[in-house]
Amino acid sequence: HHGYIEVIIGPMYSGKSEELIRRLKRAKIAKQNVIAFKPEIDNRYSSEDVVSHNGTSIDAIPIKSAKEILSYIKKNVQVVGIDEVQFFDDEIVDIAIKLADEGIRVIAAGLDMDFKGEPFGPTPKLLAVAEFVDKLQAVCMICGEPAHRTQRLINGEPAKYNDPIILVGAKESYEARCRKCHVIDKD
Ligand code: ADP
Ligand code: ZN
Repeated sequence: HHGYIEVIIGPMYSGKSEELIRRLKRAKIAKQNVIAFKPEIDNRYSSEDVVSHNGTSIDAIPIKSAKEILSYIKKNVQVVGIDEVQFFDDEIVDIAIKLADEGIRVIAAGLDMDFKGEPFGPTPKLLAVAEFVDKLQAVCMICGEPAHRTQRLINGEPAKYNDPIILVGAKESYEARCRKCHVIDKD
């Protein structure tokens, strides 16, 4: 008996956390032994839950590095959930493979692209080695078409390609957008 790697990707607001929570809750209903993790930097709503933008949640252990996952895996763990997987280092890929080889169902959710529309962290590598990949779409906040990109806004204006990740004093926000409405100024 072996496990699987399932990956849930898409832009912000596409329902990745919602879908991860749904799968983990169903596994719990089936009396499976479930454990969930998230990077410690993501304290969007709560430090000990995965919380979706529409308010559903599930317990999750905040961890600083991918390898911490291994110290929580006891013999009886059947399902491992990982949210915001793009914030981990590439080691998460080897760990997911190891867990799946050992019989665990690994479900990872995260951004496949950053706000520049470029592949984000370890997510692309994880897709490559996964059995199942679901790419979700949000609703484009400009035109209403399916959105596969995340628009970064600084004080309401589209962020530039080279804007620093941390902008002191600026009001930063994110929006789901389609290919046509996504703006990234490269100069
Ligand atoms: P993700 O983990 O992909 O960021 P969440 O699961 O946290 O997504 O949130 C999905 C929820 O976000 C939707 O059910 C909806 O209530 C809300 N939402 C807000 N803005 C949008 C949008 N532009 N398109 C789709 N859903 C949106
Ligand atoms: Zn659009």
